[in-house]
Amino acid sequence: MAGADTSTAYIGLGSNLEQPHRQIRLAKQALTQLPATRLVAESGLYSSKPLAPPSGAIVQADFFNAVVKIETRLEPHDLLDHLQRIEHAQGRVRTQRWGPRTIDLDILLFDHLQIDDERLTLPHAGIGQRAFVLYPLRSIDDSLEIPGHGMLSVLIEHCTQNGLQYLGTIDGYEA
Ligand code: ATP
Ligand code: MG
Ligand code: MG
Repeated sequence: MAGADTSTAYIGLGSNLEQPHRQIRLAKQALTQLPATRLVAESGLYSSKPLAPPSGAIVQADFFNAVVKIETRLEPHDLLDHLQRIEHAQGRVRTQRWGPRTIDLDILLFDHLQIDDERLTLPHAGIGQRAFVLYPLRSIDDSLEIPGHGMLSVLIEHCTQNGLQYLGTIDGYEA
């Protein structure tokens, strides 16, 4: 599918409800079904500690995370529409930001685009500080440059693993 109108994007997947490893697997499967899109690489499955919201602690289960790389002819906002449709189909209910969820699908990078509008921030705003994003990304492409943030390798030097654990492959993991 290579061509001038084909973009490369990285999607972050996260879940901490309803058998998270299954939610990640289901979402990965749904991503392979997107129109004009091909899944070209995937990280392993990781577990991570929940982010603590500034407004106070939420007690919730550890997260499962992964990153996949796609090639797509979709525009970024159309891709976001599809991701939100998949989140909805997997029963995501938006209650609390950073709270428990069946699935969270974030666009981490989309080519070298830098966007900041009411729906979409690219690269994803949290990308520079989140071990559960940086380490899986590095396992796919270790020499990435993140527009506006710098080299992935340098970001990782400044980001502790924060309890991040590698669990195995997305499809191979058994709870
Ligand atoms: P965070 O964005 O800090 O990881 P979250 O993933 O829990 O938090 P959501 O509730 O999934 O946040 O999304 C809130 C809004 O973020 C969405 O409605 C979407 O419009 C917006 N958004 C902005 N940039 C992105 C992006 N790069 N990928 C996905 N959603 C984004
Ligand atoms: Mg998120
Ligand atoms: Mg999100």
